Amino acid sequence: MSFPWADQWPEITDEAVRTAFAEVPRERFVPAQFQDEAHKDRALPIGENQTISQPLVVAVMTQASALRPDDRILEIGTGSGYQTAILCAVTAQGEQRPGANIYSMERLPSLSGTARQALHASGYAPHLLLGDGAAGYPPAAPYNAIVVTAAPPCLPRALWEQLAEGGCMVIPIGPRDERQTLWLLTKARGRMAARSLGLVRFVPLLSPLLYDPARCMEIEA
Ligand code: SAH
Repeated sequence: MSFPWADQWPEITDEAVRTAFAEVPRERFVPAQFQDEAHKDRALPIGENQTISQPLVVAVMTQASALRPDDRILEIGTGSGYQTAILCAVTAQGEQRPGANIYSMERLPSLSGTARQALHASGYAPHLLLGDGAAGYPPAAPYNAIVVTAAPPCLPRALWEQLAEGGCMVIPIGPRDERQTLWLLTKARGRMAARSLGLVRFVPLLSPLLYDPARCMEIEA
């Protein structure tokens, strides 16, 4: 299985994750003016002041989520749709258009629309939702995995509540325009276990909901 960054990622050992990166054409998710940089291992602008994440960060988050084929997954921050495509590929079970188990929420309609085209052109059919991801998406909860690709200032309580027993969440938390801590949170018997995966830099998760302290939770590290 080969992809542009295959040799530079010794830490990505999960074969399902490596196979997904070989399958998903990143150039489809990168705007026309950055095509010649689509295969560089770096974040790129996608318009609306947002970015497509660095491939290694997508890989680290996906591997940490320890996904299984039948998992129901919620992604917050569809953006370009690239992370969404990787989630579809990792959990595909030989169906024609993988994605029936993937829910991805975005607040900006224009980005969601562009992502929808790129995902469909690549053969994936996840559920793309519009709205404020800080509220999660109750209709399809609980989720075996929640992957958050924009950084809130605190852990949104709704996301923790929509995580299934035994499930895990990967989420960058911290102040905007600074580096944030990437957390791996797992839920066992209702309790939180938290492990830091290091420092990252994500665009902010913008949500008026999180001005309300009652909608935030502490990380129990
Ligand atoms: N996973 C994406 C990363 C996109 S950047 C990719 O691989 O391309 C983060 C995205 O989160 C942006 O598109 C931004 O608009 C979105 N976002 C920010 N706040 C949000 C919120 N409250 N709810 C849903 N999406 C949000």
